[in-house]
Parts: sequence; C-alpha cells; structure tokens
Amino acid sequence: MPYRVRENLFIGNITDAAEILQKGSTEITHILSVLSTVSISFFSEWRSALVIPTKEIKKVHVGGFDDSSGGSVSEDAFGGDGMLKSSLSPGKLLYSMEYAGKDLKLVRMAVPVKDMESEDLLDHLDVCFDFIDQSRQEGSVLVHCFAGVSRSAAIIMAYIMRTEHLSQEAALFSLRQSCEFVCPNDGFLDQLKMYEEMGFKVDHTSPIYKRFCLKVLGESYHRGEKIDTTKFGADPGLSTEVSSEGKVPSDVGNNCTSSYRCKKCRRVVALQENVVDHVPGEGETSFEWHKRKSGNPFIKSDESECSSIFVEPLRWMTAVEEGALEGKLSCAHCGARLGYFNWSGIQCSCGSWITPAFQLHKSRVDISTV
Ligand SMILES: [Zn+2]
Ligand SMILES: [Zn+2]
Repeated sequence: MPYRVRENLFIGNITDAAEILQKGSTEITHILSVLSTVSISFFSEWRSALVIPTKEIKKVHVGGFDDSSGGSVSEDAFGGDGMLKSSLSPGKLLYSMEYAGKDLKLVRMAVPVKDMESEDLLDHLDVCFDFIDQSRQEGSVLVHCFAGVSRSAAIIMAYIMRTEHLSQEAALFSLRQSCEFVCPNDGFLDQLKMYEEMGFKVDHTSPIYKRFCLKVLGESYHRGEKIDTTKFGADPGLSTEVSSEGKVPSDVGNNCTSSYRCKKCRRVVALQENVVDHVPGEGETSFEWHKRKSGNPFIKSDESECSSIFVEPLRWMTAVEEGALEGKLSCAHCGARLGYFNWSGIQCSCGSWITPAFQLHKSRVDISTV
C-alpha cells in the first residue's frame, strides 16, 4: 500500500503503482514514475502478465523539444550553449506524459532516473514539482520508483524542502514519519544538500551547480565514456559562435562581465560566466589562513590568494577532446601556454582542490571588462 506523506501526496513502490494502474483507485488520480526508462513496457517486463493501456500526451526532451504540443521547458535552463546550463545532454528525453491504466483514467508522468549516486537528480526536479503541484490540485498523486526507497523518496524530499523550506536533514526526518524505511542514495542526498544551499532552487548560475556539473562530467570521464564536447562551453573568442547562440552579448551588456584574454595575443579565452568559483582554502583547509581572514576585516579580496582561475571546459580546448587525463592548455590563436587541465583535479595555490580542473594561470591572462 502506498504511504501518505502529505495531503494528496503518496509514496510507493512498483507494486503499488502496478495495482493502481490495473485496478484504478478511488483516491489516486496521477502517477509519477521514476524508473530507469519511461516506457510503460517496464511494467510488463517486470511482470509479464501485466498489460497496461496508455495514450500518449507528450514527450519532452532536454532543450525544449516537445514531440506534440508547444514546448514547456525553459530555454534558459536547458539551452545548448554549454554544459553548465545543465548536466543533461541536449536531446535527451526529459519526461513523458500519458493517460494510463483502467479506462485511461490516470495521468502518468514518467521521468528516466537510475538509482545511481552519479545520476543527475537536480535537473529533473522542476518538471516533477510542476506535475506534483498540478496533480494535488486535481486529485492525488503517487510518486513511485522500483522499491519506493531511494528515487521517489529523494524527489518527495526535495518537494517538501521547497514547499516547507525544510533542510535536507529535516525533510528526511519528516518523510520517515510517514514511511520509515526511505533511504535515498548518498549521491541524491548530496544533491539535496546542494538544493538547500542554492536556496531551494536549481540555480544554474550558482558555483554550487557549476561544480556539480563538472563533477558529473568528471565521473563520466572516469567511467571511460567518450568526452561529450557538446557540453563544453561556447568559445568566447569566436564572436560568431557566441552571437549565434544569442545569450552572451545581452549578458555582457547587462552585467559588465569581465573577460579573460591571452596576455600575448589578446584573444578572449574565457568570460566571467565560464569561471567555476571556489572558496579559497576550502577542501584542503589551512587553519592559519582562516584565522587570518576572520581576524582581519580588511582582507576581503580572495583574489590575492589564488594564482589561477578555474573554468568550465571550453570548445577551444582541443587538447581536452583528445581524451588524455591531463595536459597543457594553449591559446587557440598564438599557442601560448595558458594553463593546464587534469580530470583528476589540480590544487589551487590557496589549497583548494578542484576536480576535474581546467586551469588558467592569472599570470598568462589579462582581465578586462567588455
Ligand atoms: Zn584558489
Ligand atoms: Zn594567444
């Protein structure tokens, strides 16, 4: 039996979902399936006797491509100009929606998420929340995964974190009051912590989110997967590429964004928005340094502490595409050495480890305001 978490909101496993899809329910009107694939055939592969009728409403892909009606996915969040906009690949199926079950009375949304620590949960949250909110207005929703322990619990935790402004720990405690055995995997718990730190939203401009995307990319590299260069940021040195994607010029105008140029030939090699910030000294903590910082209000600038900036991988970094674990980063125009990359990480002069790292030495680049 599904467990009631909040008014009109239930958590369950695949058995609960299958039963409702087969027999209908007096209470549940909507189902959110969080399984490794979105197809309803997942149920018949699990129990061959199960045949569940469905009628497609829509399929929505990352990047806003919608197979049927008008796209509802924000271009801002899933635009194609760099991996830091989303760690999901453009064109990947984001979710499907269909009428399902007895007399096609239920509305089922399915989101493809595997129960793996490295799986990107964050970028699925917004579409899940929209569906849960809508469903609770129209009836009641069951959020289910296979076991009803990790994926569905993580989504519901995020939902109650956002709606009730609970910390990750408080949300888990609260959910366990309804369903004591829930236990999201550690990767999901980390992402929910980031969600809390970003102020209960998935902020694609936040350094927390950018570091998360880098981590996802790094894990994919270490699994031996081909480097997906579509996730690399646009080359800011190629004005045609920048303007065709239509975002950078307006951003530059609005924010007075800094750009980083090769000291030797003046080619633009990175924009401020490509920078993945880190807190100086974090990670490899230097106690002395922290003491000095808190003790002296005049040391506010972190600039002097770091001799490098770290950026997202950019499309001019052809050395990265070749697949080596580490190597030099040279200017695409004059060939001057600008820095270094290492998928296993590089330690900044401040002590922080950045993993994976795409590093530009401050001594090799000039900062200018565009
Ligand atoms: Zn640093
Ligand atoms: Zn150069």
